[in-house]
Amino acid sequence: MYSRLPSRRAFLQTLATGAAASVIPGLAHAQAPSLTTTALTDTIHVVMGDGGNIGAVRGPDGLLLIDGGYANQTSDLQHFLIEKVDARKVQILFNTHWHGDHVGSNVSLGGNGVRIIAQMETKKWLSQKVNMEVFHRTVDPLDPSGIPGEVFDQGGMMNFGNERIQYRHVPFAHTSGDVYFFFRHANILQTGDLFFNGMYPVIDYSTGGWIGGMAHALDVLVKVGNKETRIVPGHGPIGTKDDMRAAQDMLHSVAGRLDGFASRGASLEEVVAAKPTADFDAHFGKGFLKPEAFLAMAYPSIARHNKKS
Ligand SMILES: [Zn+2]
Repeated sequence: MYSRLPSRRAFLQTLATGAAASVIPGLAHAQAPSLTTTALTDTIHVVMGDGGNIGAVRGPDGLLLIDGGYANQTSDLQHFLIEKVDARKVQILFNTHWHGDHVGSNVSLGGNGVRIIAQMETKKWLSQKVNMEVFHRTVDPLDPSGIPGEVFDQGGMMNFGNERIQYRHVPFAHTSGDVYFFFRHANILQTGDLFFNGMYPVIDYSTGGWIGGMAHALDVLVKVGNKETRIVPGHGPIGTKDDMRAAQDMLHSVAGRLDGFASRGASLEEVVAAKPTADFDAHFGKGFLKPEAFLAMAYPSIARHNKKS
């Protein structure tokens, strides 16, 4: 008799908890099932979710993040990091560029006193209203708590834990303020959106991006590290130098063809009808951007860039 009482109480508690979980939306998904992580070394993890890829580096006193995903995944991300990577707090957050699928944790982490570091162009775009034409969307300035408190121009070097992290600005490619990060000891390159692995890239011509710059960025990036370097792209799976060379070849080829159309003043409709990406579509056209959507960014980006320079 006595021994049955606790088990009955436990049963009722289970019932109550189960009932609560079924009526409170989201409670049953508190473990962020959409996020996954890959350990590249003992101290460097990649977290992948709906937004851009996130680098998480463990140091002696806490974490350094490179990018922070979407804002609506911020609390999921923080729980996920505690559970799967390191329970200590985030100390430093780098932004690779200003887009919302990469800077979504800025406001939450910045509000908690985390150092946010970015290239000065990224701070500029985050501080103002931007008409992002490629997505027909106006993006409001970020809350001041999420604006990077430290900026740099060309790049720099940071020692964090046992890693030496080199970061460099590659202007006018995906935006005007993209930065890549190279972990010298681990031989890992995190590219932000300078490199989309296995898919056509977004080119944000409203904030300084253009297809010639994207092609040039990969000329720079293929020379970083060596042939063993592991590459964390902005979007897509972890890749190799061969993956990067395939994207480099595609971007140079397509940029050359689009230049030809631009020099004779062809319309976007004419360009799309001519299918100038046809030989690359099987490899790159099955991702986020279909060929027409890619051309609708890449082709106008040339005229926009030429007007500026
Ligand atoms: Zn982006």
